[in-house]
Amino acid sequence: MSEELYYKSARELSGLLKAGEVSAVELTQSIIGRTKAVEERVGAFNSYDEGDAVSQAEASDQRRAAGETVGALDGIPVGIKDVLAVKDQPLTCSSKMLENFISPYDATCIQKLKQSGAVLWGRLNMDEFAMGSSTENSATHPTSNPWNLNCVPGGSSGGSAAAVAAGEAVLTLGSDTGGSIRQPASYCGVVGLKPTYGRVSRFGLAAFASSLDQVGPMARSVEDAALLLQAISGHDLRDSTSFRAEVPDFSKSFESLKGKKWKLGLPKEYFEKALDSAAMEPVQQAIDFYRELGCEIKEVSLPHTEYAVAVYYIIATAEASSNLARYDGIRYTHRAENFDPKDSVDVYNQSRAEGFGEEVKRRIILGTYALSSGYYDAYFLKAQKARTLIRQDFEKAYEEVDALLTPTSPSPAFEKGAKMEDPLSMYLSDIYTISANLAGIPGMSLPCGYSDGMPVGLQILGKPFREEEMLAIGQVFEDAHDFKNQHPEL
Ligand code: GLN
Repeated sequence: MSEELYYKSARELSGLLKAGEVSAVELTQSIIGRTKAVEERVGAFNSYDEGDAVSQAEASDQRRAAGETVGALDGIPVGIKDVLAVKDQPLTCSSKMLENFISPYDATCIQKLKQSGAVLWGRLNMDEFAMGSSTENSATHPTSNPWNLNCVPGGSSGGSAAAVAAGEAVLTLGSDTGGSIRQPASYCGVVGLKPTYGRVSRFGLAAFASSLDQVGPMARSVEDAALLLQAISGHDLRDSTSFRAEVPDFSKSFESLKGKKWKLGLPKEYFEKALDSAAMEPVQQAIDFYRELGCEIKEVSLPHTEYAVAVYYIIATAEASSNLARYDGIRYTHRAENFDPKDSVDVYNQSRAEGFGEEVKRRIILGTYALSSGYYDAYFLKAQKARTLIRQDFEKAYEEVDALLTPTSPSPAFEKGAKMEDPLSMYLSDIYTISANLAGIPGMSLPCGYSDGMPVGLQILGKPFREEEMLAIGQVFEDAHDFKNQHPEL
């Protein structure tokens, strides 16, 4: 049995651990073994520390032996995107800027994972500072899609998605600013969930665009995503944007929602643009599935959708230009050394020129421009107003329906290199995911089929702080299909 432990669900593994049929050390060794077997081809990790993972697993086994098991994730290996602070581990954001940085503290979601007994496993590759849709903007290496090694895994949480798909982790954490959990989840055939803005604390998440960033789970099943979401959710005094509200018991409440006949909206703007029609087919079949189930399927309109990408690239870059100002070569980041600086500004400039990659520089320049006096009103302020209209579109749609169904991405995973020379076409791969971040609503992608052998994702957009509904809607689809048991051949 043990060689396949790495592909079992967290739910099942939790049962096996409880029954004493498997130990956390055995499970962790299975993940380590699998990682060593496939990592050269997949490249999901920036780094991992086997010894550290095994000792966390030993501690879990000791807790269990003493009858002190702390939670459903006790002993389960969870991979971490290299953008979240784990005390005493590297935190690089896949950037040369932070290549030698070690976190002095734990992010709140990491602290919570530790409290739930999870075995924290490795540092997962990403686009530099989470800017990108393919993980090709990583300063370390590009990650490959486990379903086709010539294709990208999506991004920016490409390492997190690829690791789950390849069995290199049972669960992973990603972050989503404009689609970075959902889009790679769809490309790699796994479940990825962006919670409502404020559901999960951002303390200890290296900031990209603070009004959009959320941490969220990636898993091979809806139920597993719910387990991980449960562990990381909740109000945090250290993040004033985290929401002060009871966290529902997601697994229980979506169980109780089973069988509900949902009202589901199809935003017409998401379906009328020229989509890769092969990629659309599984999405259409998923919609038919809900219709046959007795759900009411209704067309709705989100009229400001056409502005979403433009608005996002003004707001996200503006916030990034401010957030990334801290990387100045003076305190804890890469410092340019082999040159003769005239003054400290010279040191900042040279260090930033060397430390940041092309895409990060492009965003800093764009964002600085949008915020500069004379352009602030024309770009930033206008984008903020349009953002409000986009949010109101959703509020209106949710008066009529419980949730929305859309494709996650306009096409399945593309080949490496295909969009690197054309940033605009790269930006458009998030056209269906970005609005949820602008509106602050939750979104989830789950596998709904294949196009030419590559996974296709169905996106469910839910009402704010009703993740359990989104999970329940996803669960009925998953239960009726076998995607969670289909794995890439590696
Ligand atoms: N691809 C989008 C971007 O490059 C979204 C990234 C993200 O969600 N972190 O900004």
